[in-house]
Amino acid sequence: MSVPADGPCHCGRNDARGRPLSLARCCGRFLSELEATPAPDAGSLMRSRYCAFVLEDAGYLLATWHPSTRPPEIGFEPGLKWLGLEVRDERQLDSSHAEVEFIARSRLGGRGQRLHERSRFVCEDGRWYYVDGDMR
Ligand SMILES: [Zn+2]
Repeated sequence: MSVPADGPCHCGRNDARGRPLSLARCCGRFLSELEATPAPDAGSLMRSRYCAFVLEDAGYLLATWHPSTRPPEIGFEPGLKWLGLEVRDERQLDSSHAEVEFIARSRLGGRGQRLHERSRFVCEDGRWYYVDGDMR
């Protein structure tokens, strides 16, 4: 599944006027310029990682996964279609730790699925990383 860079971002974030941000202006810049443009906060990283799942960008997912919990590789479920992301809560615990609670909806073989997780993020050397999460 792909969306043109000027189409709405997969993560569903709106601009200040309530209109959908384009992929290019939202998560796309983090995915395409990982080194130069890291996500500025845990919520943005969470959203960009959702986009990376939609776009099956394993490289981005691994690069933004903290080395302490990072899996050796990432597999994508064949036929799985992501339907949308809802960020429920973003909590900055201190300058380098944050939590984001979200619900990601998907469909596989005609069946709807719902992933509800509270994820932990850590910031090291100016970059946020996904650490782990608790299913809700
Ligand atoms: Zn986005």
